[in-house]
Amino acid sequence: MKIARVAIDVPLNTYFDYAAEHIGADDIGRRALVPFGRRLVVGVIVGIAEQPPAGEENPKYKLKPLKEILRDVPRLPKEILKLANFCSAYYHYPLGQVLAMILPQRLRRTKVARALAEPCYTLTDEGRALALDALPQRAAVKRKLLGALQSQDFLPRGTLMELSPSAGSVLRAMLEAGWVRQSAMPLSATRSVSALPAQAAAHALNPEQQTAVDAILGAPLGFTPWLLHGVTGSGKTEVYLQVIAATLARGGQALVLVPEINLTPQLEARFQARFPEASIVSLHSNLNDSERLKHWLLAQGTSAQGSAQIVLGTRLAVFTPCANLQLIIVDEEHDSSFKQQDGMRYSARDVAVFRAKDANIPIILGSATPALESYYNALHGRYRLLELSARAVQDAMPPSVRYLDLRREKLLEGFSAPLITAIKQRIKRGEQSLLFINRRGFAPVLLCGECGWLSGCPRCSSRLVVHLKEQRLRCHHCGHEERMPHHCPSCGNLDLAPVGQGTQRLEAALQKLFPEARVLRVDRDSTRRKNALAEMLEKVHAQEIDILVGTQMLAKGHDFPKLTLVGVLNADGGLYSADFRASEQLFAQLLQVAGRAGRAADRGEVLVQTAFPEHPLFAALQHGDYAQFAQAALAEREQAGLPPYTFQAMLRAEAATLDSALKFLRSAAALAHELAPGAKNIQVYDPVPALMARLAGNERAQLLIEARTRGALQKFLGAWMEALQAHKTRNVRWALDVDPIAT
Ligand code: ADP
Ligand code: ZN
Ligand code: ZN
Repeated sequence: MKIARVAIDVPLNTYFDYAAEHIGADDIGRRALVPFGRRLVVGVIVGIAEQPPAGEENPKYKLKPLKEILRDVPRLPKEILKLANFCSAYYHYPLGQVLAMILPQRLRRTKVARALAEPCYTLTDEGRALALDALPQRAAVKRKLLGALQSQDFLPRGTLMELSPSAGSVLRAMLEAGWVRQSAMPLSATRSVSALPAQAAAHALNPEQQTAVDAILGAPLGFTPWLLHGVTGSGKTEVYLQVIAATLARGGQALVLVPEINLTPQLEARFQARFPEASIVSLHSNLNDSERLKHWLLAQGTSAQGSAQIVLGTRLAVFTPCANLQLIIVDEEHDSSFKQQDGMRYSARDVAVFRAKDANIPIILGSATPALESYYNALHGRYRLLELSARAVQDAMPPSVRYLDLRREKLLEGFSAPLITAIKQRIKRGEQSLLFINRRGFAPVLLCGECGWLSGCPRCSSRLVVHLKEQRLRCHHCGHEERMPHHCPSCGNLDLAPVGQGTQRLEAALQKLFPEARVLRVDRDSTRRKNALAEMLEKVHAQEIDILVGTQMLAKGHDFPKLTLVGVLNADGGLYSADFRASEQLFAQLLQVAGRAGRAADRGEVLVQTAFPEHPLFAALQHGDYAQFAQAALAEREQAGLPPYTFQAMLRAEAATLDSALKFLRSAAALAHELAPGAKNIQVYDPVPALMARLAGNERAQLLIEARTRGALQKFLGAWMEALQAHKTRNVRWALDVDPIAT
């Protein structure tokens, strides 16, 4: 008898011991069925220990037996267990929960053995050709099943059975009619031959691209973190492709992380076109459970069907076990979608860097506007910087950028006269306009329209946020609070107004101003439905749209040849937000959105409405000069003692009332002060309401911790979390966010 130490998906940072027979070292990393309380659960074996010699056991301490070791799929490899351990320690999150997050849903089920053997169904050509509308009205179940199958390559029986109680008999009828075919779950990447794209030849690289590729391929094998800073359209993807080609040629695998699911089909097609022979799998949240498992297993390459050479995925894919990983790429590395905002609040980019280091392989972080943290690392020699400074396609000209001074222009429904004229012109010429709304950093701060005074915090470098209901200004960084002034403290102007509001009705305003125009709104809400975004983009390409209204979603990776005007309406909210990262995000978004204008033959125009045309961010934007922006922003951060010059963690609490959330945080702060008495390295701020204090009926508050070094922060957090776990909390949910990016 031995002892199996099993990590279980419960919020306790410990493992659980079970008595196990027939267990060996190669079972570490395997899933196990174990009794837990009254349930049977799936855990992961993370260690094996010897039973104490007979006679020395503690009689009160009788181990429950482990029920079964699951050997249906390969175990989690050593390096993935190490990655999970690192995350557990760094993000102070229970190992069992980290591992549960990493495992595909299917492998977390207790009925796993069946799940893998479960038959799947796929449409025959005949079934695929059926028009759903042609089926009789009463054949509702048939339609439902066909509809589901038409949207996927294949579906497991269980998924289909959930659609209707009579799914079983209808499925049988459909089998007989020859519309569907049964198959075991396909473990190889199935791609119909007709879907294979024509091979796309590699471009002859321009000198900058060549320098980048040479540097990466010429570096000694092993861990090198590269920061590939290249303006939009400069051919970063081309650089990735050539480095990947070399990796594949050596028999290695490449893991490519992208921020948005919406970007994966495009990129997958482009990769497949370049490497028609290669097996490429994608991993993102739009996959159903069996697809996810299939792709996950292919990445490990231990199935007889071979292995995926390129794994393309979003955030969570950073944890995918890979057979022979030789390269990691993080595209758009600055993107906030790489940070998980609930559960374990990890940064997939940072985890990727750790993984590359541990695996001793190169990693490329690519962006037109690197995160300031990454750029800082590059400036300090921790990352190696590669620059692509010009667009790869010669005739593509950068757009001209102009600022419309809101202190002078009169607004009609939020639009200045020059912007209205410019849109009219585009409609007449049959060209398209994009109006961009920046939602980030929406918390209103007080602004004097006369002299430009802003409600700054007297205690720290942050801005005070307007709380209209209470008529108070509050600092969400340090907790300072004061009454809302009635007039400008600087010039006496009585007309003080919160900035950053009033954009919600933009679509309606556009319809009113341009009744003849076809307006389309693209944001999270309008694209929630599967395929909605693709359909919308289709419409834009077919020129069925004159004016696009959109959030940052539109800024990313889409090419619209007929788009020649970009209007930016409310940038100022991002300039002077209480969230110190808002200006960084604003710059990234504006640069990206400006890149949408005039990508083909016509030179694009970007018009920005702002009350601060002389802001340095705008000067840098006008020259498309990221370095200029980044250096100024880093100097500000250093002055203010903000990341990357300090290291932060945020304790977030959520309760039915703001009072209980704050009360909990105050006791947490008291504990923190006890643990770090007078420590110069750790700064414990006061608890404050979150910027969006109320969310889904819950009140949220937060407590910021700041440290001079990462080591000091980690040491403190370890002790603090232990104390907090022991601390009784009722009716408050809390979570720690290490390296938070949202205020
Ligand atoms: P990024 O990823 O930096 O935005 P892409 O790799 O998508 O840029 O390249 C932008 C466009 O330029 C693409 O249409 C691509 O095919 C083209 N391109 C890239 N490199 C070259 C090159 N060396 N010569 C000609 N065209 C290129
Ligand atoms: Zn403050
Ligand atoms: Zn003033």
